[in-house]
Amino acid sequence: MATLDGLPPLREVIAEHGLSARKALGQNFILDLNLTARIARAAGDLTGTDVLEIGPGPGGLTRGLLLEGARHVVAVEKDARCLPALARIAERYPGRLTVVQGDALEIDPAAHLTPPVRIVANLPYNVGTELLIRWLTPSLWPPFWSTLTLMFQKEVAHRIVARPGDEAYGRLAILAQWRTAPRIVLELPPQAFVPPPKVSSAVVHLEALPRPRFPARAATLERVTAAAFGQRRKMLRSSLRGLSPDIEAHLAAAGIPPTERAEQVGLEAFCALARSLDGEAADQERDR
Ligand code: SAM
Repeated sequence: MATLDGLPPLREVIAEHGLSARKALGQNFILDLNLTARIARAAGDLTGTDVLEIGPGPGGLTRGLLLEGARHVVAVEKDARCLPALARIAERYPGRLTVVQGDALEIDPAAHLTPPVRIVANLPYNVGTELLIRWLTPSLWPPFWSTLTLMFQKEVAHRIVARPGDEAYGRLAILAQWRTAPRIVLELPPQAFVPPPKVSSAVVHLEALPRPRFPARAATLERVTAAAFGQRRKMLRSSLRGLSPDIEAHLAAAGIPPTERAEQVGLEAFCALARSLDGEAADQERDR
């Protein structure tokens, strides 16, 4: 059957290059090029944009990104078996695809990228969550990317967009929503992948905000949310006791009742609490 880009269908690519899926690499491939084009479109307008793709595998999503007009795709793939299939795509789109072989957790592909940069990936879930946290916690904000469009296990996707009071609300929601606008753009059943994984998946699109929604120091906010959600069933005056001897005064300054539990407290209040704690640290510094 003819494909839009004139390259062979993905089933043929996989058979020709012997790309039997390896569980250890989290290989669940998407073979439907209409679906990969939809994911590429969910990333936004790609024209005039560099795309960093992690885990291209046989290249279904890569082809979608190039078809949708990405200026340049930099694709980081750990499995060397995929390189010949990706080289074939690079030949079809001269100068628009750079493949970097290696582990995305160890490689810094920044040298290959020119802003604006969008990141798009269908990754094994454990690697995806770790990379997401790294991309959300750079030393400087705004980060080198403008958007992230990432496939997750549906349950993780719900943790990213959860609101106070939701079962899934926790550190990941705070981290993501403080400096980005995240939303679920697509939900996919296991049958969308070959082989099908055990659980459903969802694509989350996160747009970097120019500055955080509410002022706070990242390190303090992380410390507060780690302590608060580390013991999420406890009242905050007790779960946060280790942060300051005056924790009740800081909770009051942030407008949070001391008997509240972390899962009820919104982002704005957590940021106010972090600022109040930093004010105390600044006072102590001045008094020394
Ligand atoms: N993007 C392809 C698709 O949508 O069909 C493949 C997706 S498959 C879920 C995940 C891909 O990530 C595989 O090709 C796997 O080899 C690759 N991968 C796994 N761990 C990786 C890592 N640490 N760094 C880079 N690629 C990795």
